[in-house]
Amino acid sequence: MKDGLLRRVLKRIARACYAFDLRVTRWLRRERGGPRYRLAGACNGCGRCCETPVIPVSAPVFHVRTLRRLVLAWHRWVNGFEPVGEDRRMRLLVFRCTHYDPVSRQCDAYDSRPGMCRDYPRNLLDSPLPEFFPECGYRAVQRGAEGFREALARTDLPPEKLAELTRKLHLDE
Ligand code: SF4
Ligand code: SF4
Repeated sequence: MKDGLLRRVLKRIARACYAFDLRVTRWLRRERGGPRYRLAGACNGCGRCCETPVIPVSAPVFHVRTLRRLVLAWHRWVNGFEPVGEDRRMRLLVFRCTHYDPVSRQCDAYDSRPGMCRDYPRNLLDSPLPEFFPECGYRAVQRGAEGFREALARTDLPPEKLAELTRKLHLDE
């Protein structure tokens, strides 16, 4: 169901906060020499990332019941995210998005989608080992990949080992 006026306003405010936080975090990361990867490829509209949106949360939100309830209520009521699971080790909350139509693979609130949906999959580049969905048209490329590829080409590794290292080290352009 499309968002009404109130939800659109709330989402716009949340998006502005999210964008500010992201800008500051990434500026700090750049100052420290990161990120290690850049994004290549393009979205092919497979919809895989909308099937089970995942949100990392802080330890207090994950473990303190009242805080968790507030966060879940926000995501349910404002973003249309229904909780379906969690990953305790990584402190991730897993959702089903009520805006996603699995048949058409479309978002019915695309104009007012949250900041995390707009940023995806750039956020994966912050991970030491970015993992994309196999269907995703994007990929992470290691900065300086060309130099690594040239160095690998000078070794006498068998082709299959070379291909495996190229994939695991994110050296494919
Ligand atoms: S709000 Fe839209 S873009 Fe975000 S997860 Fe749901 S369907 Fe996907
Ligand atoms: S998984 Fe990747 S290619 Fe598929 S819709 Fe999401 S961003 Fe686009």
